[in-house]
Amino acid sequence: MMQRESTPAPRATFSLAGRSRRKGQPPPQVTATSKPADPRAAPRTLAQHYDIALDNISVGISFFDAEYRLLLHNRRYAQIYGLTPGQVRTGMTLARIMALRARVGAVPNMAPDDYVAWTQAEGRRNSGAGSVIELKNGRVLLVRFRSLPDGGVVSTHEDITERRMAEMRIAYMAHHDAMTGLPNRVLLRERLEQALADAATGQPCALLSLDLDGFKGINDALGAKLGDAVLRATATRLGQALPSGDLLARLGADEFAIVQRAAEQPADAAALGERLLREIARPLQIEGHSVVLSASIGIALAPRDGHEADEVLRHADLALSTAKAGGRGRVAIFAPTMDSAVQRRRALEADLRLAVATGALALVYQPIANLQTGRVTGFEALVRWDRPGFGRVSPAEFIPLAEENGLIAPLGEWVLHRACAEAARWPRWVKVAVNVSAAQFRAPGLYDTVADALRGTGLAPARLELEITESAMMENWVDTAALLQRLKQLGVRIAMDDFGTGYSSLSYLRKFPFDKIKIDQAFIRELTGNSQCVAIVRAILALCAALGMTTTAEGVETQEQLDILIAEGCSEVQGYLLSTPRPPNEVPALLERLDSAGPAARPVRRPAFAPEPREAG
Ligand code: C2E
Ligand code: CA
Ligand code: CA
Repeated sequence: MMQRESTPAPRATFSLAGRSRRKGQPPPQVTATSKPADPRAAPRTLAQHYDIALDNISVGISFFDAEYRLLLHNRRYAQIYGLTPGQVRTGMTLARIMALRARVGAVPNMAPDDYVAWTQAEGRRNSGAGSVIELKNGRVLLVRFRSLPDGGVVSTHEDITERRMAEMRIAYMAHHDAMTGLPNRVLLRERLEQALADAATGQPCALLSLDLDGFKGINDALGAKLGDAVLRATATRLGQALPSGDLLARLGADEFAIVQRAAEQPADAAALGERLLREIARPLQIEGHSVVLSASIGIALAPRDGHEADEVLRHADLALSTAKAGGRGRVAIFAPTMDSAVQRRRALEADLRLAVATGALALVYQPIANLQTGRVTGFEALVRWDRPGFGRVSPAEFIPLAEENGLIAPLGEWVLHRACAEAARWPRWVKVAVNVSAAQFRAPGLYDTVADALRGTGLAPARLELEITESAMMENWVDTAALLQRLKQLGVRIAMDDFGTGYSSLSYLRKFPFDKIKIDQAFIRELTGNSQCVAIVRAILALCAALGMTTTAEGVETQEQLDILIAEGCSEVQGYLLSTPRPPNEVPALLERLDSAGPAARPVRRPAFAPEPREAG
């Protein structure tokens, strides 16, 4: 129903369809008048048509005269402001309508007088551009004003709440990561640029680039759904550990970044980095799985390490690569030398790739002796790489690299085959121990590789022992345990390496029946000077005895350490005191020398191992 004024009778003629009219068409005219219409003329019917038309469009329309009295409006006008058609009547002042609207919260957050004044000003401006008005009831309107020749104002009122929300959602999505709700790369960049502008005027900031270690393995093992849950939990933890002024963003799969604004650099950034690493290292419970994560962090400072966002981002990434290369779970702060360090690393990687492809690696063997019998029970195979032009490179340097770039799979396969082939030529009672890294558990095919190595070389499965570290189990306990079980069924023995260095070595003892525990060198090194270490070793030995597991003490270098281990009832020892790792051709001589050092058949309290020279370089 089109409301029309009755008295007095100003005539108003306006164009309503200016926006949708096609070029060249004459503007339709609405004539609002109190004059009785000529019954023979068409306008009356036309006016009725307009009534119907106006009442059926989704936009509210109102006409006010110069005194701000309502001349005309459509049904939608009342409705859009939460009023019934009966409440809004022709002749009402805008102020009166505002009072009605105020009762239902359909007014903007400003005094009614101010609103009326603003409406008048907008009408005078006559720009035709819309104004977005947020009402107290939460609706959002687009209102356009046009002045009329006689001083009145025509306005359209459109409810754009849904469109607004959709736009806001889109804007939000463009700046946030859907999975964690964290700011994304776009927003990080914006904030970083702001922070860099402030850094130029003396307020330093830092960019921390954080990456979870070995996340791909976790994702593969737990499945994408739980992997996502791990990432969300990580995002929450990081967020909680951050002061409110710092920005946390998710840049990619398991890549996060933090813009820190703090004065004491690099100390504040380093402290934050360490705090975040500690936070991430706390075991995480995800749908019944206990997941232990670690992360690496690279830090670049501004203005010290760059003024432009790209530069600072690149430098933080270089620092992150350096942190990863130095062994995971670390914080590294950018240094200009890192550029060349990363290049050196790339060269190292290329050379290692070639060495693995051409089999230009070697194995050395370190004996492990039983303290009861005084005889060698087996050898641990340790990989060596003589890098052309550089000499011998430590596995501590290239194994982590191989784990990261995937070379560990072919490298590990080569080690397994070679160790089994060489051990097959040793006396039947001598075992070989092979190190298997966490990354090998992650990649598919470890079981087949082991089975193939045994089949191909004819080595009895019981003579092969796989040494795994806690990190292999942490990352993906369920699958690892299942795989270990299958390997055990094959007849292979499983040893836990570096026992006592991990986060929860003890809990894994309960979960998997290891055949052997290797007590980490760190405890043995301190045996003589540190009574706590003696107590720890004693406890480990008692525990393993109760669980029926063999114990090997690693890194035994002195007779004094050996004496303590014998007194405490350790089963086996390995270390420079017996022998350094030696090339395979020395194995027979080693067996002879060590086995003859103590009578084999009866228990010996003190095998007379003569210290050996250090491993040849
Ligand atoms: P690990 O498994 O704990 O191996 C023992 C390390 O201690 C060896 O270092 C060995 O040479 C050294 N060692 C033995 N006795 C003594 C001693 O009395 N005193 C001292 N200070 N050190 C001793 P290496 O050969 O440099 O190997 C370092 C690590 O590299 C190994 O630690 C192992 O985690 C890894 N690794 C070596 N070979 C392989 C391999 O074939 N595959 C994999 N995945 N990892 C390997
Ligand atoms: Ca080992
Ligand atoms: Ca070890």
